[in-house]
Amino acid sequence: MSRTVLMLPGDGIGPEIVSEAEKVLHKVNDQFSLGLRFESGLVGGAAIDETDSPLPDETLEKATRADAILLGAVGGPKWDSLPMAKRPEKGLLGLRSNLELFANLRPAILYPQLASASSLKPEVVSGLDIMIVRELTGGIYFGQPRGVRELESGERQGYNTYAYTESEIRRIGRVAFEAAQQRGKKLCSVDKANVLEVTVLWREIMNDLCREYPDVELSHMYVDNAAMQLVRAPKQFDVIVTGNMFGDILSDEAAMLTGSIGMLPSASLNSEKQGMYEPCHGSAPDIAGQGIANPLATILSAAMMLRYSLNEEKAAEAIEAAVSNVLDQGLRTADIMSEGAKKVSTREMGEAVLAAL
Ligand code: NAD
Repeated sequence: MSRTVLMLPGDGIGPEIVSEAEKVLHKVNDQFSLGLRFESGLVGGAAIDETDSPLPDETLEKATRADAILLGAVGGPKWDSLPMAKRPEKGLLGLRSNLELFANLRPAILYPQLASASSLKPEVVSGLDIMIVRELTGGIYFGQPRGVRELESGERQGYNTYAYTESEIRRIGRVAFEAAQQRGKKLCSVDKANVLEVTVLWREIMNDLCREYPDVELSHMYVDNAAMQLVRAPKQFDVIVTGNMFGDILSDEAAMLTGSIGMLPSASLNSEKQGMYEPCHGSAPDIAGQGIANPLATILSAAMMLRYSLNEEKAAEAIEAAVSNVLDQGLRTADIMSEGAKKVSTREMGEAVLAAL
């Protein structure tokens, strides 16, 4: 059965890093006889320049048909003065909402070889491997009603609505329990059930779901404590599941534990496991076109794609092992450079991963 992967390089360093990840995907496609077919499309600023739209119909059609999407990054100063509806970011948001990508998976992995890149003590973070599962299409960012209104007193009041339905909680819960089953079998659900009714329901549904996953150990933590624990003893976590706003904040905090944004992949999935995979970083216009961007976050995103959308665990593990291997060899792009290591370009890093495969 042939499966299609859509490559969307986007803007800035996007084309440089996606090109390296594409070579890696071609290699494992041959090595493991995966039967993948590759297509490409325009999104973001590159799409605006060609078609006047950040998400052309043709790209959306290809994305809908694809089994998985690998995206570089979008945006840059060239398009910053455009009206909101025409900005490159609208391309990303359009893909997320059209494909109903409600589950955002962000691993924060600190390879022992890079432990000195973190602002925390090496012994606190070395070998860190957490997965944050964030609900992406609901919660307070989307709740209605919302706005700024004038009260009878004449004073203005800003307001938002924090709401989750049972089914929204259940579907993100399932993604998290399944992710925990594929990893260390520990799930921590983060809420604010001492204050917010929404998260009382959240906790109840997570407890309910737990009965279907007897091999996973479920715990609960208030979000304020989770924020502290992430910097105090982050290795206590395996998988964390939480709502949109708490996840937004905690996943950035966890990313920074690793100190190297060029290393962090992410996945956004829908209920059919169709997914969009992208590095956590942006289009880095400051270094675009110089051949010095770190392609590893994008290459690791391709590994996540093989694991979560294409069910090809062995190929995913092979890529992750190859990345670890090139770090062992002391190869570093500028962003993760340290004393005694060998500085390499974007292309050289990609070639080294290919060789290690
Ligand atoms: P950024 O992540 O692009 O860059 C932040 C810093 O990290 C920069 O100094 C950059 O050079 C560096 N960096 C990022 N990725 C790197 C890599 N792979 N290798 C080496 N260094 C890397 O964030 P920003 O500067 O705030 O945003 C730049 C543009 O990217 C903006 O237009 C923003 O809207 C967009 N953006 C897009 C996405 C996305 O496509 N998902 C996410 C965030 C920001």
